[in-house]
Amino acid sequence: MHEMSIAMAVVGQVEEAAAKAGGVRAVTSVRLQVGELAGVVPDALAFCFELACVGTLLEGAELIAESVPGRAGCATCVDDWAVGTPPQLCCPACGQATAELLSGRELQIVSVRWEDGPARDRTPEPVSEER
Ligand SMILES: [Zn+2]
Repeated sequence: MHEMSIAMAVVGQVEEAAAKAGGVRAVTSVRLQVGELAGVVPDALAFCFELACVGTLLEGAELIAESVPGRAGCATCVDDWAVGTPPQLCCPACGQATAELLSGRELQIVSVRWEDGPARDRTPEPVSEER
């Protein structure tokens, strides 16, 4: 399952960060940016995340998923638009398929909150799936 491998990758990255920080007793929440076009079903991800957390520092942690709307821009016009789903990648102004995706494929941890201190903002890091 796609969401399961993402959930496990998120748990792995948070555990690694917690180990580096040291003294972390429990992770309380993880904020994740999920692009509209990342192909992730939020409910499935929440379910898988809960499973992936069992037996780790993240057990019982809350997953806060922020949805990032997909936007595309045209290379020749200055226009940009919401691509929606399924994505519309032809420019609504000139009709050309030269669109560039500006956002919507995000899949990154924005911040992690753990018991030993305030929320720590991390540099957004793309989640690489484990296969
Ligand atoms: Zn255009």
